[in-house]
Amino acid sequence: MTESDAQQDGRTLSRRADGGSPRRHAVVIGGGLAGLLAAHVLAEHADRVTLVERDRFPEEPASRSGVPQDRHVHVMLESGQNALEMLLPGINAELRELDVPRLGMPDDIVQWQAGRWYRRTAATTHILTGSRPLTDWAVRRRVLSGPRIEVVEGVEVTGLAGDARRVRGVRLRDRGAVVGKEPRVLEADLVVDASGRSSRAPAWLAALGAEPPHEELLDSGLAYASAVYRASRDGDSPFGGVYVVANATQPLGAVLLPIEDDRWFVTLSGMRGSEPPTDEAGFTEFAARLPHPVLHEWLLKAEPVSPVHGFRKTANLRRRYDRPGRRPAGFLATGEALCAFNPVYGQGMSVAALSALALREALSDPRRVPTTHRVQRALFAAARPAWDISAGADKKMPGATGNAVGSRTVDRPVDWYLHRVEQRATGNPVVGAAFRRVLSLSAPATSLFAPSVARAVLFGPVPWTPPEPPLEPETDATAR
Ligand SMILES: Cc1cc2nc3c(=O)[nH]c(=O)nc-3n(C[C@H](O)[C@H](O)[C@H](O)COP(=O)(O)OP(=O)(O)OC[C@H]3O[C@@H](n4cnc5c(N)ncnc54)[C@H](O)[C@@H]3O)c2cc1C
Repeated sequence: MTESDAQQDGRTLSRRADGGSPRRHAVVIGGGLAGLLAAHVLAEHADRVTLVERDRFPEEPASRSGVPQDRHVHVMLESGQNALEMLLPGINAELRELDVPRLGMPDDIVQWQAGRWYRRTAATTHILTGSRPLTDWAVRRRVLSGPRIEVVEGVEVTGLAGDARRVRGVRLRDRGAVVGKEPRVLEADLVVDASGRSSRAPAWLAALGAEPPHEELLDSGLAYASAVYRASRDGDSPFGGVYVVANATQPLGAVLLPIEDDRWFVTLSGMRGSEPPTDEAGFTEFAARLPHPVLHEWLLKAEPVSPVHGFRKTANLRRRYDRPGRRPAGFLATGEALCAFNPVYGQGMSVAALSALALREALSDPRRVPTTHRVQRALFAAARPAWDISAGADKKMPGATGNAVGSRTVDRPVDWYLHRVEQRATGNPVVGAAFRRVLSLSAPATSLFAPSVARAVLFGPVPWTPPEPPLEPETDATAR
């Protein structure tokens, strides 16, 4: 791209300096969380934003076919809550008013990891555990109430308009319209792909004669099965939730977390060859195979209020739009269309919010012309820490496949260190807090090498942890 191309490209994205330039129009493909939040930010810069969504949005919080993962547990990490709050001030309080539970970690949750139970010491981070349909609905209500955003529902993007140098719009077809009917073109100065992990943008770019992005894939073969329950009425649960983390030698995982309206999500997971069944009896039996019966016993007393739903598209998949290539100006990818993660780390929604903040920053930076490439790199950088955690952990899973599996030698000392971190995080509150900050995307992985943490990791013994799931949080009186 020449300097003058870059400047022209930048002008289509940045805030208009004078009132006289042509009206700018941005199109966002997909109204999931990444698309909604990107549209919200673009509306601060463009004259008009059109959000194109293949589904029709439900009036009330409800599942929809374009987001099949919304039938599975979704946690919002602290970094995601903070980013959401910066984008939509007051949203976390709104979510709490809608009955979204907020849980402290590790004190509220009984967590099994690295073959050990976490001590339930004082919380150092909090998660929000509302259902995905409710979270989407609350964010959608806020974003779409803003000015300059128009929604086109029940309409599918089927391709891009323009050429290999510049994208000039999208091709649209009503959902369910006769295939073969000529799609109509919606012109735009900027197109943002937020259509999720199954994005077809690489093929659309190729059809313009541009270079599709290199794709990095790492698939642990993880399968999810989830159902919603009401807890047994005989007394309060002795915990706010249960979390069983699989590892290379123990392929089963589980999450039990409260959602709004006094209901609970139970998600069971298994690596390749240990997939959880999707019939109710098989689901309950699978829970009995977890390393401890605590969740199975809870399930036996609880009442299912939904069928069991399965989900298998859980690979880490990253599209390298950030790398140089013959790609057109005026096209960006964000959210899972750019980088999708193994969901077990609970990162995707938070990364969607962090990416929207990165978009805002890149478009507002007075020192730099926000060329497509620059903004795309900022979006890539926003997803990178989550990728490093998710793909880094999945590389070690036996049976992991994909072109991103190959381990580098430099990983070995890091793996050795991280193994010691994991072992100590369960019982040493300092190491545990540092580990949780990284996992919640609130601190970089390098913070695990801070002196206070490194001392315990390198020289400290493996600390005491409870031999059984601790049914009470620790207080000053009970702390060891
Ligand atoms: C089983 C599972 C559990 C998860 N758990 C968590 C969790 O605990 N915490 C967390 O933070 N994240 C979790 N995630 C990830 C999270 O769901 C996503 O990262 C998050 O939804 C952001 O995705 P998105 O907006 O990029 O895409 P999506 O939510 O997939 O939305 C894409 C949207 O694009 C629309 N669309 C697609 N194609 C077109 C088209 N051609 N034209 C028009 N519209 C189109 C779809 O209808 C949809 O509305 C989980 C994911 C899975 C699979």
